[in-house]
Amino acid sequence: MTRWIEETYICSFRFADPSMHSTYRDCLNVGDSVALLKGNPNDDLLDVIIVGAGPAGINCALELNESRIKSLIIERKSTLGGALEEIPSPIPNLACGWFDNGKTVQTGLCDTAKRAGLNVVTDENIIECNLHEKTLRSANRTYRATSIFLATGYRLKQLPQSESIEQFSNDIIYRSGPHPDDFVDRDIVIIGGGESAYYEALDRVKTARKVTIVNRSNRYKAPVFLIRQADENPRIERFENLELVSASGINSMEEITFRSTTDGAIKKIPAQKLVVKIGYTPNTELFSGQIDMDSSGHIRIGPGCSTSVAGVFAGGDIVTPGFDRLAVAMAHGVIAAKAIANYLFIEKPALDPNKLQSSGQKANT
Ligand SMILES: Cc1cc2nc3c(=O)[nH]c(=O)nc-3n(C[C@H](O)[C@H](O)[C@H](O)COP(=O)(O)OP(=O)(O)OC[C@H]3O[C@@H](n4cnc5c(N)ncnc54)[C@H](O)[C@@H]3O)c2cc1C
Repeated sequence: MTRWIEETYICSFRFADPSMHSTYRDCLNVGDSVALLKGNPNDDLLDVIIVGAGPAGINCALELNESRIKSLIIERKSTLGGALEEIPSPIPNLACGWFDNGKTVQTGLCDTAKRAGLNVVTDENIIECNLHEKTLRSANRTYRATSIFLATGYRLKQLPQSESIEQFSNDIIYRSGPHPDDFVDRDIVIIGGGESAYYEALDRVKTARKVTIVNRSNRYKAPVFLIRQADENPRIERFENLELVSASGINSMEEITFRSTTDGAIKKIPAQKLVVKIGYTPNTELFSGQIDMDSSGHIRIGPGCSTSVAGVFAGGDIVTPGFDRLAVAMAHGVIAAKAIANYLFIEKPALDPNKLQSSGQKANT
């Protein structure tokens, strides 16, 4: 029989700067309290563990709450909201309001998590797991659950390690953002063939002297209309079938050397800034070999965000078929929660309906 971890302790968070509002803890008013789990999780079987407190994970927990199922969210960062804090620009595709950047969505997400009384353990990195046995291990603890929702998101792909490139790390930009002075009257090289590379080029060319887009192959993920817009701009040039070799300069970056992937010819392009837009890698190495994935490391999902392992569900940026959008991640969370409820109540009756938290009651408070 599944048993809730019922012992809790109340922990007060006090902040030196109460004006900060971007983290879960910051969402709590000074002197406010939040329930954290206590006891020995090694001995306790939880009903649902959610790995990752991004939009997918949080929405799954909220929907489970609606079904009166308690879950535990495990998050390696000290903040909730996953990739939200990395979004510097307005979010134009979320139909629930206008948000100037990801942090404004994150603030709302934190507030909702707090009001719903979600159980969250932050600063807890899952480093090992056995999905078939439904165990997850951090540096200090082993967690066991009847069902698991994987929502670990993705991270930016980095350039391969190379000393000649790394010495210019101050001139290499991975994250989009204002960087207003970095581009004025400069020669910029952007590596990538997707829409991020092209949006970046069209934006940066407004202040840069020249923008050169370099693609490693002759295949493009960017939509044709963006490529056309770039081609129409006389200060944007683009090359394909070129791979990065090295960068050079005296005190800062001055030139980047590429090699042709077709005939090996060397091409040198003047550049004071290098912008890298070569895509994302799903955070799924931990689950590799235990669950069905595609060649890019995305977890294959079926109906209800189910995976090849019974009782393990996945959603958000780590799944295929998927689409890396906030609305999709949130929807996956909701869909998975419904399927998890079904799994716990019907497929693997693990819940005693008499022991459900009462409707609307805050979990563990
Ligand atoms: C720069 C940028 C701009 C974007 N702009 C938009 C936009 O305008 N509109 C839009 O719809 N979408 C946008 N997105 C995409 C959107 O942010 C993602 O689709 C969404 O955040 C995915 O949610 P998720 O919950 O799947 O993953 P994430 O938000 O990435 O959350 C995953 C969480 O899992 C945690 N985690 C990972 N591994 C572990 C582990 N081993 N143990 C514990 N925790 C772990 C991570 O720390 C993270 O908090 C943007 C993304 C970026 C990076």
